[in-house]
Amino acid sequence: MFSVAIDGPSGAGKSSVSKAVAKAAGFIHVDTGALYRSLAYKALKSGTDISDTDAVNKLLARTEISLILEDGAQRVLVNGEDVTPFIRTEEVSMAASNISKIPSVRAFLLDTQRKTAEEHNVIMDGRDIATVVLPNADVKIFLTASAEKRAERRYKELLEKNEEVEYNKILEDVIKRDKQDTERETAPLRPSEDSVTVDTSLLDFDQSVDKILQLIKERM
Ligand code: C5P
Repeated sequence: MFSVAIDGPSGAGKSSVSKAVAKAAGFIHVDTGALYRSLAYKALKSGTDISDTDAVNKLLARTEISLILEDGAQRVLVNGEDVTPFIRTEEVSMAASNISKIPSVRAFLLDTQRKTAEEHNVIMDGRDIATVVLPNADVKIFLTASAEKRAERRYKELLEKNEEVEYNKILEDVIKRDKQDTERETAPLRPSEDSVTVDTSLLDFDQSVDKILQLIKERM
């Protein structure tokens, strides 16, 4: 199987770029953030205190997560319930960043991610794919962009959905989530030694996709 690991901070365009690359290359796109988001959603919904590791471990003991890959789209089932429509809110984003700091949570989701890469040609995006999940990935990319550029993209996306938003608040959240993701002890966000950094601050969408397809072609 061929695997492409794409790591980077939130808003660098990992998901949308990976989706387009997967389509062009005939690979399956796996968005691992959705797994952390689904677990965070379940914790919020069940009233689990995310800062209490014991409570989160109890939640893990009664939770089963499965990743469904169908027609190029991905869905996450938590105890059989499709939670995909509920995991894209700001509240779930922050809760996902918090719950992902807990080592037992990361261990809990590791098998699902590795198994998927054993069964399919994948382009998998996340924070620790090249460093922890798939250290032997064929292509490793660190996709990034300035915090301002990422906040601007998120701001436009939310405006298009007619959500009431303030740019400064979004920038603040982006910076806070970056700090949490890069400074945590377990699997912090960082490029692996052998990854190629692609900065999308000055690239448009098509240019970002082309750049990655070119890197894949070189390694195939
Ligand atoms: O990528 P996305 O923004 O959906 O991820 C939500 C949160 O899940 C991130 O802020 C990060 O803390 C966590 N995450 C992670 N490891 C991954 C993917 C996501 O810790 N592989």
